[in-house]
Amino acid sequence: MDLGIALSAEVPLRIERFRAQGGPDQNDLRRATKFAPILASSGEKFLLDSEEQSESADLLNRLAEAIAVLSFLPGGITAFGTTWIAKSGCGTCTMCCKLLAVRELEKPTNTWCRHCTPGKGCGVYVIRPRTCGEFECVWLQSQRHNPFGPELRPDRCKVVLSSNTTDRQFTAFVDPSSPRAWREGPIAELLAKLADDGATILIGGNLANPQIMEKKNGALIVRPARKVGKNAEGDTVLK
Ligand code: SF4
Ligand code: SF4
Repeated sequence: MDLGIALSAEVPLRIERFRAQGGPDQNDLRRATKFAPILASSGEKFLLDSEEQSESADLLNRLAEAIAVLSFLPGGITAFGTTWIAKSGCGTCTMCCKLLAVRELEKPTNTWCRHCTPGKGCGVYVIRPRTCGEFECVWLQSQRHNPFGPELRPDRCKVVLSSNTTDRQFTAFVDPSSPRAWREGPIAELLAKLADDGATILIGGNLANPQIMEKKNGALIVRPARKVGKNAEGDTVLK
Protein backbone atom coordinates (compact mmCIF):
# COMPACT_ATOMS: atom_id res chain seq x y z
CA MET A 1 0.00 0.00 0.00
CA ASP A 2 1.32 3.47 -0.84
CA LEU A 3 0.56 5.23 2.40
CA GLY A 4 1.05 8.74 1.01
CA ILE A 5 -1.48 8.21 -1.79
CA ALA A 6 -3.95 6.54 0.55
CA LEU A 7 -3.74 9.43 3.03
CA SER A 8 -4.02 12.11 0.36
CA ALA A 9 -7.41 10.62 -0.49
CA GLU A 10 -8.59 9.90 3.05
CA VAL A 11 -7.47 12.92 5.11
CA PRO A 12 -9.23 15.71 3.13
CA LEU A 13 -12.54 13.82 3.36
CA ARG A 14 -12.24 13.73 7.11
CA ILE A 15 -11.16 17.38 7.37
CA GLU A 16 -14.31 18.34 5.44
CA ARG A 17 -16.44 16.20 7.75
CA PHE A 18 -14.97 17.83 10.86
CA ARG A 19 -15.37 21.28 9.33
CA ALA A 20 -19.05 20.57 8.61
CA GLN A 21 -19.62 19.72 12.27
CA GLY A 22 -17.80 22.82 13.53
CA GLY A 23 -14.35 21.27 13.96
CA PRO A 24 -13.08 18.39 16.10
CA ASP A 25 -13.89 18.30 19.80
CA GLN A 26 -11.83 17.36 22.86
CA ASN A 27 -12.65 13.64 22.54
CA ASP A 28 -11.43 13.65 18.94
CA LEU A 29 -8.25 15.39 20.07
CA ARG A 30 -7.71 12.86 22.86
CA ARG A 31 -8.02 9.95 20.42
CA ALA A 32 -5.75 11.65 17.88
CA THR A 33 -3.07 12.42 20.45
CA LYS A 34 -2.85 8.73 21.35
CA PHE A 35 -1.88 8.13 17.74
CA ALA A 36 0.96 10.65 17.86
CA PRO A 37 3.82 8.11 18.30
CA ILE A 38 2.73 6.33 15.15
CA LEU A 39 2.47 9.61 13.27
CA ALA A 40 5.91 10.58 14.45
CA SER A 41 7.78 7.61 13.04
CA SER A 42 6.56 4.14 12.39
CA GLY A 43 3.18 4.56 10.72
CA GLU A 44 4.19 3.08 7.41
CA LYS A 45 5.89 0.12 9.02
CA PHE A 46 2.93 -0.26 11.36
CA LEU A 47 0.54 -0.52 8.44
CA LEU A 48 2.75 -2.83 6.37
CA ASP A 49 3.38 -5.07 9.34
CA SER A 50 -0.26 -5.72 9.99
CA GLU A 51 -1.06 -9.10 8.54
CA GLU A 52 -4.79 -8.82 8.14
CA GLN A 53 -6.10 -6.56 5.37
CA SER A 54 -9.05 -5.50 7.52
CA GLU A 55 -6.65 -4.59 10.33
CA SER A 56 -4.59 -2.55 7.90
CA ALA A 57 -7.69 -0.73 6.63
CA ASP A 58 -8.76 0.02 10.19
CA LEU A 59 -5.33 1.43 11.01
CA LEU A 60 -5.38 3.56 7.88
CA ASN A 61 -8.77 4.92 8.90
CA ARG A 62 -7.59 5.81 12.38
CA LEU A 63 -4.37 7.31 11.05
CA ALA A 64 -6.29 9.50 8.58
CA GLU A 65 -8.70 10.51 11.35
CA ALA A 66 -5.85 11.49 13.68
CA ILE A 67 -4.10 13.54 10.98
CA ALA A 68 -7.37 15.30 10.14
CA VAL A 69 -7.94 16.23 13.80
CA LEU A 70 -4.38 17.45 14.34
CA SER A 71 -4.51 19.49 11.12
CA PHE A 72 -6.87 21.86 12.96
CA LEU A 73 -4.13 22.83 15.42
CA PRO A 74 -2.22 26.06 14.70
CA GLY A 75 0.37 25.29 12.03
CA GLY A 76 -1.33 21.98 11.23
CA ILE A 77 0.65 18.74 11.30
CA THR A 78 3.43 17.26 9.21
CA ALA A 79 3.23 13.49 8.81
CA PHE A 80 4.88 11.22 6.27
CA GLY A 81 6.30 14.14 4.32
CA THR A 82 3.04 16.04 3.93
CA THR A 83 1.88 19.07 5.91
CA TRP A 84 -1.84 19.17 6.56
CA ILE A 85 -3.45 22.45 7.62
CA ALA A 86 -7.23 22.60 7.93
CA LYS A 87 -8.07 26.18 7.11
CA SER A 88 -11.45 27.21 8.46
CA GLY A 89 -13.98 28.84 6.17
CA CYS A 90 -12.93 32.12 7.81
CA GLY A 91 -9.60 32.15 5.97
CA THR A 92 -7.38 34.71 7.67
CA CYS A 93 -10.27 36.61 9.27
CA THR A 94 -10.23 36.69 13.07
CA MET A 95 -12.40 39.77 13.66
CA CYS A 96 -14.94 38.15 15.98
CA CYS A 97 -12.02 37.19 18.27
CA LYS A 98 -11.59 40.93 18.83
CA LEU A 99 -15.03 42.51 18.60
CA LEU A 100 -17.22 40.01 20.46
CA ALA A 101 -17.27 39.10 24.13
CA VAL A 102 -16.57 35.51 25.20
CA ARG A 103 -18.20 34.84 28.54
CA GLU A 104 -16.24 31.65 29.31
CA LEU A 105 -12.94 33.54 28.97
CA GLU A 106 -14.23 36.74 30.60
CA LYS A 107 -13.14 38.40 27.39
CA PRO A 108 -14.82 41.77 26.89
CA THR A 109 -15.81 43.23 23.53
CA ASN A 110 -13.25 45.15 21.45
CA THR A 111 -10.25 43.32 22.93
CA TRP A 112 -8.21 40.68 21.17
CA CYS A 113 -8.62 37.27 22.77
CA ARG A 114 -5.43 36.11 24.44
CA HIS A 115 -5.60 32.90 22.37
CA CYS A 116 -5.87 34.68 19.01
CA THR A 117 -3.06 35.40 16.61
CA PRO A 118 -4.72 38.11 14.51
CA GLY A 119 -4.88 37.14 10.85
CA LYS A 120 -3.87 33.55 11.64
CA GLY A 121 -6.37 31.99 13.99
CA CYS A 122 -7.17 30.46 17.32
CA GLY A 123 -4.41 28.88 19.37
CA VAL A 124 -6.86 26.62 21.19
CA TYR A 125 -9.17 25.81 18.29
CA VAL A 126 -9.94 22.23 19.28
CA ILE A 127 -10.74 23.15 22.89
CA ARG A 128 -12.15 26.64 22.25
CA PRO A 129 -15.18 27.68 24.35
CA ARG A 130 -18.65 26.71 23.23
CA THR A 131 -19.48 30.39 22.53
CA CYS A 132 -16.72 30.45 19.90
CA GLY A 133 -17.58 27.05 18.44
CA GLU A 134 -21.21 28.02 17.95
CA PHE A 135 -20.63 31.47 16.46
CA GLU A 136 -20.83 32.07 12.73
CA CYS A 137 -21.10 35.59 11.38
CA VAL A 138 -23.46 36.30 8.49
CA TRP A 139 -20.56 36.37 6.02
CA LEU A 140 -19.46 32.89 7.05
CA GLN A 141 -23.03 31.56 6.94
CA SER A 142 -23.44 32.98 3.45
CA GLN A 143 -20.50 30.96 2.14
CA ARG A 144 -22.59 27.77 2.30
CA HIS A 145 -25.39 28.88 -0.01
CA ASN A 146 -25.22 32.37 -1.53
CA PRO A 147 -21.66 33.56 -0.88
CA PHE A 148 -21.09 37.22 -0.10
CA GLY A 149 -17.97 38.56 -1.76
CA PRO A 150 -14.57 38.96 -0.07
CA GLU A 151 -15.18 42.70 0.33
CA LEU A 152 -17.82 41.85 2.94
CA ARG A 153 -15.56 39.58 4.97
CA PRO A 154 -15.36 41.17 8.44
CA ASP A 155 -11.60 41.74 8.45
CA ARG A 156 -12.01 43.74 5.25
CA CYS A 157 -15.25 45.66 5.90
CA LYS A 158 -14.49 46.02 9.65
CA VAL A 159 -17.98 44.96 10.67
CA VAL A 160 -18.98 41.56 12.09
CA LEU A 161 -22.63 41.02 11.29
CA SER A 162 -24.45 38.54 13.49
CA SER A 163 -27.99 37.31 12.90
CA ASN A 164 -30.89 36.29 15.07
CA THR A 165 -32.87 34.57 12.36
CA THR A 166 -35.99 33.98 14.43
CA ASP A 167 -37.04 37.61 14.56
CA ARG A 168 -35.14 39.17 11.65
CA GLN A 169 -32.77 41.05 13.91
CA PHE A 170 -29.10 41.58 13.24
CA THR A 171 -26.28 43.05 15.27
CA ALA A 172 -23.44 44.81 13.49
CA PHE A 173 -20.31 44.82 15.67
CA VAL A 174 -18.16 47.66 14.38
CA ASP A 175 -14.39 47.76 14.76
CA PRO A 176 -13.73 50.73 17.11
CA SER A 177 -10.63 51.57 15.08
CA SER A 178 -12.96 52.19 12.08
CA PRO A 179 -16.13 53.48 13.79
CA ARG A 180 -17.61 54.78 10.54
CA ALA A 181 -17.07 51.50 8.67
CA TRP A 182 -20.77 50.60 8.76
CA ARG A 183 -21.60 53.76 6.82
CA GLU A 184 -19.24 53.04 3.93
CA GLY A 185 -18.95 50.81 0.87
CA PRO A 186 -20.50 47.38 0.35
CA ILE A 187 -21.29 46.77 4.03
CA ALA A 188 -23.35 50.01 4.17
CA GLU A 189 -25.26 48.81 1.10
CA LEU A 190 -25.87 45.40 2.67
CA LEU A 191 -27.15 46.88 5.96
CA ALA A 192 -29.48 49.23 4.09
CA LYS A 193 -30.80 46.36 1.97
CA LEU A 194 -31.48 44.20 5.03
CA ALA A 195 -33.30 47.07 6.76
CA ASP A 196 -35.24 47.82 3.56
CA ASP A 197 -36.34 44.16 3.54
CA GLY A 198 -37.79 44.60 7.03
CA ALA A 199 -34.90 43.64 9.31
CA THR A 200 -33.95 45.58 12.45
CA ILE A 201 -30.23 46.14 12.79
CA LEU A 202 -28.48 47.07 16.00
CA ILE A 203 -25.41 48.93 14.82
CA GLY A 204 -22.40 49.13 17.07
CA GLY A 205 -23.72 46.66 19.65
CA ASN A 206 -20.17 46.72 21.01
CA LEU A 207 -19.79 50.51 21.00
CA ALA A 208 -20.74 53.20 23.49
CA ASN A 209 -23.57 54.68 21.42
CA PRO A 210 -25.32 51.89 19.55
CA GLN A 211 -27.98 52.78 17.03
CA ILE A 212 -30.89 51.08 15.36
CA MET A 213 -31.40 51.00 11.60
CA GLU A 214 -34.93 50.12 10.52
CA LYS A 215 -37.66 50.98 8.06
CA LYS A 216 -40.44 53.22 9.39
CA ASN A 217 -43.32 54.47 7.27
CA GLY A 218 -41.52 53.40 4.12
CA ALA A 219 -38.26 55.21 4.93
CA LEU A 220 -34.98 53.94 6.35
CA ILE A 221 -34.11 55.59 9.65
CA VAL A 222 -31.17 55.38 12.05
CA ARG A 223 -31.93 56.29 15.67
CA PRO A 224 -30.23 55.80 19.05
CA ALA A 225 -30.90 52.37 20.55
CA ARG A 226 -32.99 52.29 23.73
CA LYS A 227 -32.27 50.13 26.76
CA VAL A 228 -35.34 47.95 27.37
CA GLY A 229 -34.14 45.65 30.14
CA LYS A 230 -31.88 42.66 30.68
CA ASN A 231 -31.96 39.15 29.26
CA ALA A 232 -31.56 35.88 31.22
CA GLU A 233 -27.78 36.21 31.09
CA GLY A 234 -27.92 39.70 32.58
CA ASP A 235 -26.95 41.45 29.35
CA THR A 236 -28.59 44.77 28.56
CA VAL A 237 -31.21 44.42 25.84
CA LEU A 238 -31.31 47.25 23.31
CA LYS A 239 -34.13 48.09 20.91
S1 SF4 B 1 -15.90 37.32 11.93
FE1 SF4 B 1 -16.87 35.69 10.72
S2 SF4 B 1 -15.41 35.20 9.10
FE2 SF4 B 1 -14.32 36.37 10.66
S3 SF4 B 1 -13.42 34.84 12.02
FE3 SF4 B 1 -15.39 35.38 12.91
S4 SF4 B 1 -16.86 33.91 12.07
FE4 SF4 B 1 -15.02 33.80 10.80
S1 SF4 C 1 -10.81 31.11 22.10
FE1 SF4 C 1 -10.15 31.06 19.98
S2 SF4 C 1 -12.03 31.27 18.74
FE2 SF4 C 1 -12.48 31.94 20.86
S3 SF4 C 1 -12.16 34.18 20.84
FE3 SF4 C 1 -10.28 33.20 21.53
S4 SF4 C 1 -9.04 32.99 19.66
FE4 SF4 C 1 -11.16 33.34 19.04
